[in-house]
Amino acid sequence: MAASKPGPRFNKRGRDRPGQRPIGPRPSASLWYGLAFLLLLFLVQMYYVTSNVGSLPYSEFKTLLKNGQVAEVTIADQAVRGTLKQTASTDQKQFKQFTTTRVEDPKLIEELEAQGVKYTGETANRWLPDLLGWIIPLVFFIGIWGFFFRRMSGAEGGVMSFARSRAKIYADDEVKVRFADVAGVDEAEDELKEIVEFLKNPKKYTNLGGRIPKGVLLVGPPGTGKTLLARAVAGEAHVPFFSLTGSEFVEMFVGVGAARIRDLFQQAEAKAPCIVFIDELDALGKMRVQSPLGSHEEREQTLNQLLAEMDGFDARKGVIIMAATNRPEVLDPALLRPGRFDRQVLVDKPDVKGREAILRIHAKGVKMAADVDLKIVAARTAGFAGADLANLVNEAALLAARGDKTSVGMKDFESAIDRLIAGLEKKRVMSTKEREIVAYHESGHAIVASVLPGLDPVHKISIVQRGFGALGYTMQLPLEDRYLMTRGDLLSQLAVLLGGRTAEEIALGDISTGAQNDLQRATDIARAMVTEFGMSDALGAINYDGNKRARFLDIVMPQERGLYGEETAQKIDAEIKRILTEAHDTARDILSGHRDKLETVTRRLLDIEVMEGEELRKLLGVGPLKSVVSSQ
Ligand code: ADP
Ligand code: MG
Ligand code: ZN
Repeated sequence: MAASKPGPRFNKRGRDRPGQRPIGPRPSASLWYGLAFLLLLFLVQMYYVTSNVGSLPYSEFKTLLKNGQVAEVTIADQAVRGTLKQTASTDQKQFKQFTTTRVEDPKLIEELEAQGVKYTGETANRWLPDLLGWIIPLVFFIGIWGFFFRRMSGAEGGVMSFARSRAKIYADDEVKVRFADVAGVDEAEDELKEIVEFLKNPKKYTNLGGRIPKGVLLVGPPGTGKTLLARAVAGEAHVPFFSLTGSEFVEMFVGVGAARIRDLFQQAEAKAPCIVFIDELDALGKMRVQSPLGSHEEREQTLNQLLAEMDGFDARKGVIIMAATNRPEVLDPALLRPGRFDRQVLVDKPDVKGREAILRIHAKGVKMAADVDLKIVAARTAGFAGADLANLVNEAALLAARGDKTSVGMKDFESAIDRLIAGLEKKRVMSTKEREIVAYHESGHAIVASVLPGLDPVHKISIVQRGFGALGYTMQLPLEDRYLMTRGDLLSQLAVLLGGRTAEEIALGDISTGAQNDLQRATDIARAMVTEFGMSDALGAINYDGNKRARFLDIVMPQERGLYGEETAQKIDAEIKRILTEAHDTARDILSGHRDKLETVTRRLLDIEVMEGEELRKLLGVGPLKSVVSSQ
């Protein structure tokens, strides 16, 4: 089906980038200089060749002298020059002036006197020949060399512009993108509007002593509109926009990338307020590692320079550094520290409403038939990112054109979707079956979390695939900070974590791999209950595992097992198993008791993809309830 598919269009760069002009002299100008110079040289040579100075052998000169045909002679170091008399025999000669190489001839003066020839000597004064012999070729070669050199260092920043930053600079009114051209990423948009506000009116914020974020990092799957959003910020704020890609700093030569960063920041500071946008930051900001194959010195230096510049930067001057990446996990942690990219904005794949809005934006320039319902198109394109949707509209238009239609109809959209889904299969778009599994799974988490007492209320359920491997999520937000958890709280949490898997069992009679993360977290909690918190009756209030938590971070340090024997180990495992089995039973009880609700919530979730907590509680008929867990 996808055999004759034209390549996807959406990842092409530069399509909508105005103002890219090659810098440097136009090659034709230098070419003209070169030609003019050659012409001049030619003329000089012609003058010497055609001027009527004849060169004679010395003997002939002496014969002419004896015959009284010489009028005047100048004796120089190396040569004798002279003029011939105007006589009948000399008129045959083509020249009047002659030159001859000087020969050791002591009698010459006598002979000249005898003939009454006017003669004079000449001291060596060779500046003119020197000039012609040396300077002209030199100038010539410098000319040629300069010509080629400038060609080499032309538009693409050649030899001489190594250390210059290659940022494309857009003047304040050159960026035409507005927030209205972006849809389906409302949360990210809201956060960025704040940045625009600041760039437009920095004093309002700094007068109160507020600190403006220095760096904003846009993270999200490819094609969700990160680059577009950054451009929209520049377009709305009406400030100069420096745009470049992380890979542009990564060079073969050590030190070049770092110099470029320095140059970039200098330029930016001169143009403040402005935005510096580094796209695909991961190319430059990868974690610094000790590689067995030798370190990537160059990239590290570049990264260090970036870190240093960001530190030394005074945000009050109004330079905001934006960056985008779809691989935040590979970024060097130092980049994410406060004072650098301290603000991270998630640009996620759009839900069904967002998809409809994006389709509307891209359908604006397309002639649509009356039967096209973008709502239905949006419903059928779960998992599509903004760029996929833009591509979809384009494909549909191409199909319509191929069918010689006057407008793009619903049929064209249907076939375009089929094509793209076939093409996107590699990109892991969920099938209908998979979406159903995920919907049951998330509904299971949400229902257990809402029914059991003592848990944080569900804030949001989503089956929109996220970029970081999660197929869906159920988010609970705590009503207040917690410092302590009771055994009851933890047991409830375990039930919530197992609720997803249990819902799959009950509704579909089969289980999927989607619960892997839930099971791991549930097992960690259960183990901690037994070995750290002394919450198991069978083992008592004993800590078996020592202090294995990092002092400041809530992460478990990788460490070998605590000091206990084989028998205790078996007991611990048995207790963990018992706790988890009980939690599983709790979840099963709840979900079997709410079988109809499980169905309702799942169907609704398949429809709208993202459900707010309020709607969930309404569907379940429960009042606001009260975990710190968000289960996937
Ligand atoms: P990213 O940088 O996240 O990979 P881009 O910003 O380059 O994605 O998006 C590529 C194109 O896809 C955009 O130029 C735009 O036409 C379309 N697009 C992507 N996301 C959106 C969106 N949220 N709203 C409207 N158009 C979008
Ligand atoms: Mg991009
Ligand atoms: Zn889950």
